[in-house]
Amino acid sequence: MKITRIETIPVNVPIKPELAIRSGRGGSHTASPFLLVKVHTDDGFVGLGEASCTPRWSGEDQVSAAHFINHYLAPKLVGENPIEVERLAGTFRLSVAGNFFTKAAIEMALWDIAGKAAGKPVYELLGGKVREFIPTKWSVSGVEPERAAEIARWAVAQGFRAMKVKVGINPDGDVARVRAVRAAIGPDIKLGVDANGGWSLAVAAKTIERLCEFGIYFAEQPVSPDDVAEMALVRKQIGIPVIADESIYTLQDAKTLVQLGAADVFSIYVGKAGGILPAKRIAEFTEAAGLKCTVGSNLELGVGSAAMTHLAMATRGIDAEHFPCDIIGPFFYEHDLLAESLPIVGGQARPNLKPGLGVELDEAKVDQFRAT
Ligand SMILES: [Mg+2]
Repeated sequence: MKITRIETIPVNVPIKPELAIRSGRGGSHTASPFLLVKVHTDDGFVGLGEASCTPRWSGEDQVSAAHFINHYLAPKLVGENPIEVERLAGTFRLSVAGNFFTKAAIEMALWDIAGKAAGKPVYELLGGKVREFIPTKWSVSGVEPERAAEIARWAVAQGFRAMKVKVGINPDGDVARVRAVRAAIGPDIKLGVDANGGWSLAVAAKTIERLCEFGIYFAEQPVSPDDVAEMALVRKQIGIPVIADESIYTLQDAKTLVQLGAADVFSIYVGKAGGILPAKRIAEFTEAAGLKCTVGSNLELGVGSAAMTHLAMATRGIDAEHFPCDIIGPFFYEHDLLAESLPIVGGQARPNLKPGLGVELDEAKVDQFRAT
């Protein structure tokens, strides 16, 4: 089997306004200018991928992703056997620096082809399932307390038993928001906070201490990813686990965070890591270091969410049972662009039990949301 061509499809899918995420440091996420890819083969298998990229996360968008795929990655891939995923990923890793979400789109499409060719879901090719489903948590936007409480009540009604609240905007407002959410959901729902790097070193530990009154059990990316040593200082001052998110893209980042003692849990994405296998490798390293992983989100559409479910189904180092994953992207959209939606419901995510990533695009919806 050989790759014949790679098609790139820019889409811009609005996020339901009532669920748009506002967070510290990074601003608001109101629409997703993502890139879909189709890797075509001479055997007729088509691999699907999604670059769930936003400029504020990784400096990539649908234009840069299409550019690097069409001009740098496709020339390395056309004519190659798509099921040699590890070798091909090594080749294109060396042709373009960074651009992890772009590379992930191609890598997941190669897995999709490998699974379709083998007649197996991708998670079976990754070592088989380690869980029956993936526990997930909701993410409450950094809005006014009353609105945050309303969103949190909605999430509980959807079936979520865990959630995090966006903080890092201003300390008093952050405390008011978390207080309102805890009052709304009662004592039994697991609750954490995600500052998206929005607190300064001076306020992070103090604010987390104030938030502990509301029974929070983790603090995600309390300070900027610019200086990993700062997060290590915060971690020493607080009594709950620190989750690194913006600070970790690569295996090398994981090594630095471990060496500096900067985090207890790593939030890994297929996109940030540059693919399913690089993300799995981080989880394995993390497990060896005695730490845990969870799966974070950049509000992936259907294809990107499917890749995350296969990773989490097959990876022991992802401790979704204690740190539920953010595989919730499809909730945010009127359409996830899939012909048949994934079995992702409140508190639980599952892959489709079909070959490959187990998803097909709804071409009419793709046309509707195609970016010009
Ligand atoms: Mg985060």
